[in-house]
Amino acid sequence: MRIVIKVGTSTLAHETGKLNIKRTTDLCGVLSDLKNAGHEVILVSSGAIGMGVGKLGLSEKPKDIPTKQAAAAVGQCELMYTYDRNFTEFGQTVAQILLTGSDFSAEDRHENFTNTLFKLLELGVLPIINENDTIATEEIKVGDNDTLSALVAVSAKADLLVILSDVDGLYSADPHKDTNAKLIERVQGCPAELFDLAGGEGSALGTGGMRTKIKAAKLCVENGADMVIANGENPEVLYEIVNGNLGGYTRFFAE
Ligand code: GLU
Repeated sequence: MRIVIKVGTSTLAHETGKLNIKRTTDLCGVLSDLKNAGHEVILVSSGAIGMGVGKLGLSEKPKDIPTKQAAAAVGQCELMYTYDRNFTEFGQTVAQILLTGSDFSAEDRHENFTNTLFKLLELGVLPIINENDTIATEEIKVGDNDTLSALVAVSAKADLLVILSDVDGLYSADPHKDTNAKLIERVQGCPAELFDLAGGEGSALGTGGMRTKIKAAKLCVENGADMVIANGENPEVLYEIVNGNLGGYTRFFAE
């Protein structure tokens, strides 16, 4: 299987903003193991801005664009250093690819991207992708890594995209407000009414980014890839997902 895995800053870092060493090491171990088992693995990782904030000793996430972009430039370096060290321990070679929205809309750039991606996979490399936050402005950026990971999954003709998050998956209602809310484990395609469950911008679920995840699911299932939302707390969940064992997470089945 060709699998794209997306991890967010909340999976990689503690609430203090510092790197969650155990989680990151576990994640690299499981992804290496999946590769050793014969799967092709592409990682889409956030964390550039968060790591830059930590490394520069800033007291909070910057609000102005130049500082944000400077933090991303520092943090992306730290992020790749962390991955390179960890994956090397497990015998893997990694590569960095930084993209913006225009790399998907401009045909020649998109073709260059996919040519490089397929060559890296052929060479047995594990590509690690992020938005090129140091140059991406409002007009050209993808904007969030849920969407970026879906665009990557479709471009890579992946079988499966797994979005690792700080929630178990999609619920039938807001679990913070409704004690009867149930985890939806199986979705065929991506019906329009799911967007109602995600809530609007700023609602409890929307803040967690459920809307961008459902949009990502729609893009995937319409293009023949399954998509999963799972909790990144324990990266071993990836073994269950790849083996097709349902339970404890949400899986959208391709149409
Ligand atoms: N590209 C951003 C970063 O690396 C994260 C965007 C997102 O998580 O959606 O910090």
